[in-house]
Amino acid sequence: MAGEYTLIPEQAFSDFISGTLHQDTDAYAKLLEAGFLVDDTSALSLDLLAVKLRTKLSNISRFTSLHMIVVTLRCDHSCPYCQVSRQSEDKEKYDISPETAGKAVDLIFRSPSRDIKIEYQGGEPLLNFASVEFITKYAVSLASKHNKNVSFVIATNLSRITDDMLQFCKEFDVSVSTSLDGPKDLHNLNRPMSGADSFERVASGVDLTRRFLGRSSVSALMTTTEASLGRVKDIVDTYVEMGFPGIFLRPLSPYGFAIKTKTYSKYDTRRWLDFYDEGLEYILQLNRLGVDFSEFYSSTILKKMLTPFSPGYVDLMSPAGIGIAAVVYNYNGNIYASDEGRMRAEMGDETFRLGNVHANSYDEIFTSDELLEPLERSFTGSVPMCSDCVYEPYCGAEPVYHHATQGDFVGFKPLSGFCERNMHVIKRLMSIVEGGSADSRTLRRWSIR
Ligand code: SF4
Repeated sequence: MAGEYTLIPEQAFSDFISGTLHQDTDAYAKLLEAGFLVDDTSALSLDLLAVKLRTKLSNISRFTSLHMIVVTLRCDHSCPYCQVSRQSEDKEKYDISPETAGKAVDLIFRSPSRDIKIEYQGGEPLLNFASVEFITKYAVSLASKHNKNVSFVIATNLSRITDDMLQFCKEFDVSVSTSLDGPKDLHNLNRPMSGADSFERVASGVDLTRRFLGRSSVSALMTTTEASLGRVKDIVDTYVEMGFPGIFLRPLSPYGFAIKTKTYSKYDTRRWLDFYDEGLEYILQLNRLGVDFSEFYSSTILKKMLTPFSPGYVDLMSPAGIGIAAVVYNYNGNIYASDEGRMRAEMGDETFRLGNVHANSYDEIFTSDELLEPLERSFTGSVPMCSDCVYEPYCGAEPVYHHATQGDFVGFKPLSGFCERNMHVIKRLMSIVEGGSADSRTLRRWSIR
C-alpha cells in the first residue's frame, strides 16, 4: 500500500509466506528493509510505512485543485480523433457566457485547496479570448480575497495566438499547453485545418510564446493515431528539435469524435505498447548519448514506484482523481467529474454530470451520487483483480474509461486496455530500474522531476 517493492527469488518467497525464511538470508534483509517483514529489530518500520502512505494519499486532503473551464466548443481544426464534439468557428452560441463563467469561478473558490489551477479548454480557447481575460481577472481578485494561490494554463493549438494575447498571458502568468503530433507531414495529417498548415502555425506559435513567456512556459501533448504507429522516432526527434524536455507518448482515448469517426478502434492496446516500447528504447538511447529527454507517462509511474510522493496524475489515482483532483465546467454551465466525463456527455452519456453552476450548490455537486458512486465502486484497494495485483500502488482507478469501454465503473480487468497498458509499462520500467545500468540511473532521475 505504501508503494515499497523488492525482488526476491521464488523459493525465498515461498519460504517467506510459509514462515520458514531464515534470518540470515539476503531475501530476509530485503523484505525487512522494504517493510514487508517486521521483527524485534524493526520497531519504527510500521510508523514509517504509515507516514509513507499518508504522504502518498495527501492529495485527497487538498481536494480539487485543477479546474478546467471550457470557454468555447468552437474550433478551427477538424481532427478526426478529437475527444470533444467541436463546433465550427461561426457558432458563437457554443461560447461560455460571462454569467456562467462568473458562477463557475465562484464555485472554484469554494474548493478547500489552497492552490487553485484553472485550465482553459475548448474547442479552441483562443477563439473566445474575451472569456479567458474575464475569468482570469475575476479569479485573481477572488484568490486575493480568499488568500489562495491561483495559476492558469491555456490548452490551445496556437493557430490564433497574437502578441496582445501573449502580453495578457505574461501579465497574469498564464502558461500554454499545445498539441504537437510529430513531424510536419504527420501533424498536418492528424490535425487538418483550412490551409493545411497546422504544423507551421504551432511551430511559429511555440517560438512566439517562448519569446514572451520564457522557454518553460510552453508544453506540448501528442496523440497517437494509427498513422503515428511506426513513426515514434520521427515524433521524438521533432520534440527534441523543438526544444521540449520530454514527451508523453499518449494513446487514443475512447471518447468524443474518436469514437464517432471510428479512429479509436483502428488500433488495439498491443500495437500502442509496441509503439511505447520502441519510443522508450529510443529515448533511453538518446539519454545514453547525452540528450536529457524524458517520457512523461513513465516518469509519472516511476514517481509512484520510487518516491513516497503522488504525481497528482488524475488517471493514476485511487480513489480516482475524478472530481476530487480535477473537475470540468462546460461552456453551458454543466459540471463534469473529468474531461473524459464531459466528452462522454458530448456523445449523449451524462453519467458523470455532477450538476450545473446555475442550479446546484457546491455541497450538492461534490457530494452528489454521480461523484461518490464511481469513486467508491472503483477504489482499487477493494475491486476484483486490482486488490490482489502487485502493481496496484502504481496504477489507478479509471471509472470513466471502464464505463466507456465496458459499461461499468470497475471493468473486467483481463479485457481492459487500461490494465493491459499499465501492467506492461510498470513491468518494463521495473525491469530496467532493477537492471542497474545507465538506463536504470536515467529512470531514477525521471522519478524525481
Ligand atoms: S494493473 Fe490492472 S489489475 Fe493491476 S491495479 Fe492496474 S488495473 Fe488493476
